[in-house]
Amino acid sequence: PELAALVAGASVDVPDFPKPGVVFKDLMPLFADGEVFRRVIDGIVTHHGSDSFDVVAGVEARGFVLAAAIAYATGKGLVPIRKAGKLPRKALSASYALEYGEATLEVHEDAFIAGQRVLVADDVLATGGTAAAAMELVERAGGTVSGFSVLLELGFLDGRAKLAPRSVHALLTV
Ligand code: 5GP
Repeated sequence: PELAALVAGASVDVPDFPKPGVVFKDLMPLFADGEVFRRVIDGIVTHHGSDSFDVVAGVEARGFVLAAAIAYATGKGLVPIRKAGKLPRKALSASYALEYGEATLEVHEDAFIAGQRVLVADDVLATGGTAAAAMELVERAGGTVSGFSVLLELGFLDGRAKLAPRSVHALLTV
């Protein structure tokens, strides 16, 4: 509850971004506040425990910020899940539908050791399309998703249904 309040307090509603009718939750103020950022990362690490996963995967770009801090705090490595066309070596791709059009995520095909347990981090879980594509990539690359960690879940979009039966931990669900 205390962490949920920290996320709520650091979230700014931005109407009509990235397009008319959408209210974007901007969480940059959470990263900008050193004390809040540290408490949030400590809370995530306490929740998942460092024994439940072997490596952290961050979804470009705000997921990188969280994944890097979680990785550092737990002594694990970090694997980036990137937008299309950014990775230098052979990569696997997963495309998913957006409201208008399509998006593609990629991961290096050798990013994981077979059976490695992967905690996937991102800032916001909305429809779950992004997280489901990340999960597909991790599993096609030989890892297993041990769980998802997000700061904020938009519960009314029911993104976690796309991720079942894997565990999804959100510090705040609205
Ligand atoms: P989904 O694929 O679940 O619909 O959308 C989640 C992805 O889009 C995440 O990578 C997240 O960063 C971004 N996203 C969608 N809506 C928001 C929002 O309101 N605020 C922020 N910060 N990111 C969002």
